[in-house]
Amino acid sequence: MAKKISSKKIKSKKYVYFFGGSKAEGRGDMKDLLGGKGAGLAEMVNLGIPVPAGFTITTEACNEYFRNNKKYPLGVWEQVLSNMKKVEKVMNKKFGDSENPLLVSVRSGAKFSMPGMMDTVLNLGLNEETLKGLIKKTNNERFAYDAYRRFITMFGSIVMGIDRQKFESVFEEIKKSRGVSLDTDLKAEDIKLVVEKFKKIYKKETGSNFPQNPYDQLKLAINAVFNSWFGERAIKYRKLHNIPDNLGTACNIVAMVFGNMGDNSGTGVGFTRDPSTGEKKFFAECLINAQGEDVVAGIRTPLHIDELKNKIPEAYKQLEKVYKKLEKHYKDMLDIEFTIEEGKLYMLQVRTGKRTARAALKIAVDMVKEKLIDKATAVMRIDPSQIDQLLHPTIDPKAKIKVVAKGLPASPGAAVGKVVFTAQDAEEMASRGEKVVLVRTETSPEDIGGMAAAQGILTARGGMTSHAAVVGRGMGKVCVVGCGAININEEKKRFTISSADKEIVVYEGDYLTLNGTTGEVILGKAPLVVPQLTGDFATIMKWADEFRKIGIRANADTPKDASVARNFGAEGIGLCRTEHMFFESDRIKAVREMILAEDKKGREKALEKILPMQKNDFIGIFKAMEGLPVTVRLLDPPLHEFIPRTDEELKELSKEMGVPFEKLKAKNKALHEFNPMLGHRGCRLGITFPEIYEVQVKAIIEAACELKKKKIKVIPEIMIPLVAHENELKIMKELVERVAFEVQADYGVKIQYTIGTMIELPRAAITSDEIAKYADFYSFGTNDLTQTTYGLSRDDAGRFLPYYVNNKIIEEDPFMSLDQNGVGQLMEIAIKKGRMTKKNLKMGICGEHGGDPKSVEFCHRIGLNYVSCSPYRVPVARLAAAQAAIKEKSKEAKELTKSTV
Ligand code: PEP
Ligand code: MG
Repeated sequence: MAKKISSKKIKSKKYVYFFGGSKAEGRGDMKDLLGGKGAGLAEMVNLGIPVPAGFTITTEACNEYFRNNKKYPLGVWEQVLSNMKKVEKVMNKKFGDSENPLLVSVRSGAKFSMPGMMDTVLNLGLNEETLKGLIKKTNNERFAYDAYRRFITMFGSIVMGIDRQKFESVFEEIKKSRGVSLDTDLKAEDIKLVVEKFKKIYKKETGSNFPQNPYDQLKLAINAVFNSWFGERAIKYRKLHNIPDNLGTACNIVAMVFGNMGDNSGTGVGFTRDPSTGEKKFFAECLINAQGEDVVAGIRTPLHIDELKNKIPEAYKQLEKVYKKLEKHYKDMLDIEFTIEEGKLYMLQVRTGKRTARAALKIAVDMVKEKLIDKATAVMRIDPSQIDQLLHPTIDPKAKIKVVAKGLPASPGAAVGKVVFTAQDAEEMASRGEKVVLVRTETSPEDIGGMAAAQGILTARGGMTSHAAVVGRGMGKVCVVGCGAININEEKKRFTISSADKEIVVYEGDYLTLNGTTGEVILGKAPLVVPQLTGDFATIMKWADEFRKIGIRANADTPKDASVARNFGAEGIGLCRTEHMFFESDRIKAVREMILAEDKKGREKALEKILPMQKNDFIGIFKAMEGLPVTVRLLDPPLHEFIPRTDEELKELSKEMGVPFEKLKAKNKALHEFNPMLGHRGCRLGITFPEIYEVQVKAIIEAACELKKKKIKVIPEIMIPLVAHENELKIMKELVERVAFEVQADYGVKIQYTIGTMIELPRAAITSDEIAKYADFYSFGTNDLTQTTYGLSRDDAGRFLPYYVNNKIIEEDPFMSLDQNGVGQLMEIAIKKGRMTKKNLKMGICGEHGGDPKSVEFCHRIGLNYVSCSPYRVPVARLAAAQAAIKEKSKEAKELTKSTV
């Protein structure tokens, strides 16, 4: 039997969605297809909120347009035409009609809002004929000509690419000749003249007359909107905000309503709550007798919304009802745009409102109290990286500042101080009560004192985990690193910044401001504001802890840092780096004596001097962390870091110590390594110079015994760094147990302590089943693990890593956000193999990633017991960990992070 061939025409796909009257084809959750604006308009129509009728051409049409060499897919134009008919019906006007013309706006609208990045054309449909109709219908010649004038400008510049300035200067000329400064003061006659001149400009620039067929205008405008997706501005914006290029934009064609039809009309924008404080107060501005673009372009200063209440009270009442309805529906603070045409309100846009961290907290807490959202939603609504803003002073956003260079934003907040070039100068000046900013090519452990004394640190070299970055973050110090644009001349005590046209010289004592949140270097003294922590912050943190599954600890080396961390909610110390203690001025001499000693005996003699001081360090930290675990890492860096580098410094040291300069120089040479980060450091030091670790263990256990005698609960965890082979840990474990046994016997006290290791080398991760035999716990040192997995120096990565990230060779700096695919796999192997040997092996992370929200989520997923981060990031980590738990618990919770607007 022959097959019957269908005579039906092939139906084209749906590319256009109508909204208007009381019915919309789209919905608020269709942002992928309709863009944010289109989805919001559709949703408002569905809610019965007044919106001018219109339709949305989908992002899919846009993407196919680009895929097909800027040709529209089959059926798009036909669907545009039939939807235009529907708009005409609802608005009771006709597109291109000389009696009662319908005008439309053509606007872009991507999934994510990209303010001002793409193009909009208003008043489309005007020509010589429809102009007459508009005059007749509105009985307002001035208004109609003004609409035409605006349309020619927008069409000419946006669609045809004519320099907008050509129109603006003619307009300004006429205003000047009429002696007026405001557009609204021009008379109908004047605007008529402007229109004539604009048409001439159009003809001169394009070689043809201004297009008279409204459908031609429409086609060209839609092209322009789609093309603007790949405009320079839009591409840059997407790069900056990590928005993929392949999303495409939708195009909205919406019937024009006019806010400039007299004193009974107006336009405005607003937020349903205060976006800066979060206060539950309608926060909007309006202009009477104006079009929306006047507000956006800042041509006239907008009025407080109360003016609308006074001038058009009926419309205000409608607006109040609408914004409340919208907020209740979306259950979030919203950003809205509206126009009032002769007393009637129309909503033109709705989307989630951007807000400060403080406002985000208040709004979330208030909305729980108002029973709009639950606690989980409130916790999901806060961006963990945003709450950093609340923990450090910041530059007054209203201040005029002069940014002269940019580095990596290593540690957030803002710092102002006088420039100094050495740690010593920093300490000296700070002791005189001066505020200083320490500027170094790079920092070394010797600079610790100066770093602590400074308000902020700026380095020319180094990446996000360079010494300056790690230490700065740990101290909560503002820090900008890897600022390649600055050229330091330490000798002459100045640095220079070369820009295209001139060279800026900054001398010692000049004021400098650093913005550690953006990496900006600012000349002079910028005004700072100290953010207040409100009760809402504490409330959200409390709620977060109710959901959180993994523990949060801090990396802290001093009692002060430990108590800051505890106040922020840290549940222990995950990493106490002991090398910083060796640099304190009262013991560096003994440390150097130890390094310079000829034999073990000499070393032991010097170490004896260090012991009581180290013990005191631990007593301070243990006390601050009473009842909570403290992971103390034994000495990690190579010894050469404790000896100065230059001849000059060595000469000084030789005088100070009474050791011949030549001997010092020879020692320096002997300690030199080509790759010190892969060299004689970590447990390799402990194995070859066991007396160093012995003294440290003695100091830890003695401190614990003394406190235990005073009934202070101490939980020490002794951590061995840079283990690559099981035997290294085996030997070190024996050492620790031997010394701990002796000390406990001496004191007659029993201490509950554990021994663990860092997993910071690929070999350790892969052989974790063997290493686990000797470990009570693991802590992933992801700074070194990233460095060794990637083969990428953490101190020099700043040279090319930004290029890699900017050019999308890699997505993110692996020192900032954990490389889940590479380093992360090694972690998963280590966890699996480690727990095969010891089922309940406790595991945490203490690399800088412990404070990065995305990495925290990963740590939660792979089953770590805790993350440890710098004290100031503890709240960030608490929140990120709670969000990870909420997301995991409920698949729908995923939807909560995506705003539905
Ligand atoms: C690490 O390597 O991740 C770590 C925490 O140790 P450090 O940064 O001191 O090398
Ligand atoms: Mg390390």
